[in-house]
Amino acid sequence: MSNKELLLQNYRKRTGNSFEKAKAVLFDMDGILYDSMPGHCRAWKQMCDENGIEADADEFFAYEGRTGASTINILYLRQFGREATEDDIKRLYGRKSELFKAMGLPALIPGAQECLRLVLDSEALPCLVTGSGQLSILERLEKDFPGAFPSGRRITAKDVVHGKPAPEPFLRGMERTGAQPYQSIAIDNAPLGVESASRSGALTIGVRTGPLPEGALLAAGADIELKSMLECAILLAELL
Ligand code: MG
Repeated sequence: MSNKELLLQNYRKRTGNSFEKAKAVLFDMDGILYDSMPGHCRAWKQMCDENGIEADADEFFAYEGRTGASTINILYLRQFGREATEDDIKRLYGRKSELFKAMGLPALIPGAQECLRLVLDSEALPCLVTGSGQLSILERLEKDFPGAFPSGRRITAKDVVHGKPAPEPFLRGMERTGAQPYQSIAIDNAPLGVESASRSGALTIGVRTGPLPEGALLAAGADIELKSMLECAILLAELL
């Protein structure tokens, strides 16, 4: 069975719907468009060290997809037994963002630009769906993906009440593109992001670009799990 047939069959089994022609392709950012997760993890760890918060650099891979505020709350509850205040969040996320920015711009994920070109050449609209609020990387999108993500088609940390793994970010992306769940393809690399996509009812492609065990994204609700964005481009070429 081809990847396309497998994907459509799994989607039908999971949702009871048949996927229609795609009207939207919803892209996560970190780990899908940019190889930015190692830098994010290092920045989080350093910020924690500076603020007396015990943490392990690798644990931040597990929080990928969460908003910064949500991650800071997890750290505060564990270290200090209370939630972070608005001021704590602003200060710590500001510092983490500063440290990340100082590391320089992350590389593109191989295959990401091909995926966007395929979408732009099709009738479907691309939309960004990220938990990030990292301005240094958001500002770079237009240069790396010209015409793909105008401001109206960017869902970031500030556009949602309940971030990933809740379905809200991907549902907002569908609103912005005028697509129904059964007309939307969602692409994410993290278990929490895949869970969010899957719960939104989109056709969910998990791409294992980070240090995850095989099957982790299928377990989180993906309709298919791929190993790279290059593989994703081949699949999109058949779907669009
Ligand atoms: Mg990601």
